Amino acid sequence: MLRPERTVPESLPGMGSSGKAVSGPVRMCLVCRRRFRKRELLRFTAGEDGRLAADPDQTLPGRGVYCCHGRGCLEGFFRRPGRIARALRLGAVDVSGCSGLEKYQVVP
Ligand SMILES: [Zn+2]
Repeated sequence: MLRPERTVPESLPGMGSSGKAVSGPVRMCLVCRRRFRKRELLRFTAGEDGRLAADPDQTLPGRGVYCCHGRGCLEGFFRRPGRIARALRLGAVDVSGCSGLEKYQVVP
């Protein structure tokens, strides 16, 4: 029942030294503008009332904004409501009322 080892992993992300071959959806961190695989990022959405909501399962409908796990990025994220609003195509967002943040274990 032995299968020959494949030399090219199909499911593993291509995080080789080139850093270019990344599989799966890729999104950009709102703060540092670096690109990451979507699953590695923190996703946020906002409702029509502009209230930001953490989306740890990345399943909420609508546009999302993403922030990487960099400490400076998370802090900077909440200082950039204008950038968040633009990314979400909203007039304004309420970052202070962000729900679900405890799932990310961060405090703005
Ligand atoms: Zn970042």
